[in-house]
Amino acid sequence: MTSALDTSYDAIVAGSGPGGAAVARELAMGGARVLILEQGGAAPLAGTVTQMARMAAIPGKGAFLHSDGSLLVQGITAGGSSAVNFATAAAPPLALFAAYGVDLAPALAALRAQLPIAPLPDALIGPMATRIMAAARASGLDWHKFDKMIRAPACRAGCWRCAYGCPFGAKWSARDFLDEAARHGARLVDQARVLRVVLEDGRARGVEVVHGGRTHTVAAPLVVLAGGGIGSPRLLHNSGLAPRRSPFFSDPVVAVIGTADDIDGGAEVPMAAGLRLDDEGVTLADMTLPGPMYQAFALQAGRVDRVGAHRRSLTVMVKIRDEIGGSVGPHWVNKHLRAADRAKLDHGIGIARTVLAAAGARKLFQTHHFAAHPGGSVRIGAGVDSDLRTRAAGLYVCDASVIPQAWGLPPTLTLLCLGKRLGQHLSAQSLSVFRA
Ligand SMILES: Cc1cc2nc3c(=O)[nH]c(=O)nc-3n(C[C@H](O)[C@H](O)[C@H](O)COP(=O)(O)OP(=O)(O)OC[C@H]3O[C@@H](n4cnc5c(N)ncnc54)[C@H](O)[C@@H]3O)c2cc1C
Repeated sequence: MTSALDTSYDAIVAGSGPGGAAVARELAMGGARVLILEQGGAAPLAGTVTQMARMAAIPGKGAFLHSDGSLLVQGITAGGSSAVNFATAAAPPLALFAAYGVDLAPALAALRAQLPIAPLPDALIGPMATRIMAAARASGLDWHKFDKMIRAPACRAGCWRCAYGCPFGAKWSARDFLDEAARHGARLVDQARVLRVVLEDGRARGVEVVHGGRTHTVAAPLVVLAGGGIGSPRLLHNSGLAPRRSPFFSDPVVAVIGTADDIDGGAEVPMAAGLRLDDEGVTLADMTLPGPMYQAFALQAGRVDRVGAHRRSLTVMVKIRDEIGGSVGPHWVNKHLRAADRAKLDHGIGIARTVLAAAGARKLFQTHHFAAHPGGSVRIGAGVDSDLRTRAAGLYVCDASVIPQAWGLPPTLTLLCLGKRLGQHLSAQSLSVFRA
């Protein structure tokens, strides 16, 4: 039988997170023969801590320790980080993208009609999120339910598995779009690590990819890099199209935690509700996580006395819009907080402590910062143009790396909009242009 890597395609998409899955789906629906290459695995999501750790905790792949001791995590699997993310949906800031010549309004309207985007019904909001929301509102804060990408009828109250990868099909992930792309003929090859783009006369001709212990060269006149905020700048560098180091943002987070003796919980959807201070670049939300993740937080903060308090611990997440800096390098990722970032975190931590105290929590502590939104490393206006095209013909980038400015928002819905827009743009151009 011919292997998927022994033939040529109209388009190759390298990476299968939200950006890659959205563009692959759109291209496949437009009739293109599409190959999606993903370095992670595509086993069904099991919702277990061991599977999640394989996807997002392997050092140097899913987890990167910075020299200041902070951690950056990402999902290395079919669907990318969306497989393990918290499913919070934020609309793209349309004016920000319009300033770069990118109109995301049509894609947003279409996606809103297709995707399960809505706040959770009260029955699915856990007791900890409810307690935190009531305390925040009593403190005069505009704490409100967030939109989630969750199919409420399939979601189970008292379940905690979504943070590990929802096995019940309730949480939307980019795997849903990969499945749709496959129904339109796209082929997904997992455990396939793209090494570089093959270029001839300044034009993309395909990719070099390692799969099954062999290096293959697969031809296509159109290549879309969608390896995420860390993967795509590395692929461009390996292809001779980007510098060795690319600065980036990561939206650092601190978890502020306290114990309330009159609550018994610990199993609920995280980020059900929160507070967005967009002008200040600070977001707060409830963040009840499964026991092992909570215990890792307590240990990281040196609070051995709190390790056993998971079911009684209220957690508020403080996330900030950090300045672009640090560097994604060929074999490392490193970024430190600047003074302005530290001030934003401190501001948010102060609010979180007020909310937790109002919720009846005591013995408050906070974690070191960590991050899960690498992006801005191949920015629109710098690494790609407003059509997400690189300086090589036929080579595009579509993932969090193209976000043009410091960010601070849940990126998934924005990346789906970018992917849909790019897929439609390329389909409209007619793939015959690239076959020439
Ligand atoms: C714990 C956690 C919670 C989060 N919560 C939210 C949330 O609630 N809402 C939200 O909007 N966002 C959330 N995010 C962030 C969001 O999921 C990511 O920003 C988003 O998935 C990024 O999409 P992307 O298209 O840039 O690619 P990614 O999701 O980063 O996927 C890129 C894929 O490309 C693959 N790849 C990279 N290099 C190569 C290569 N050389 N060859 C082959 N494959 C390659 C990777 O293995 C990966 O699977 C969260 C993230 C995490 C980790």
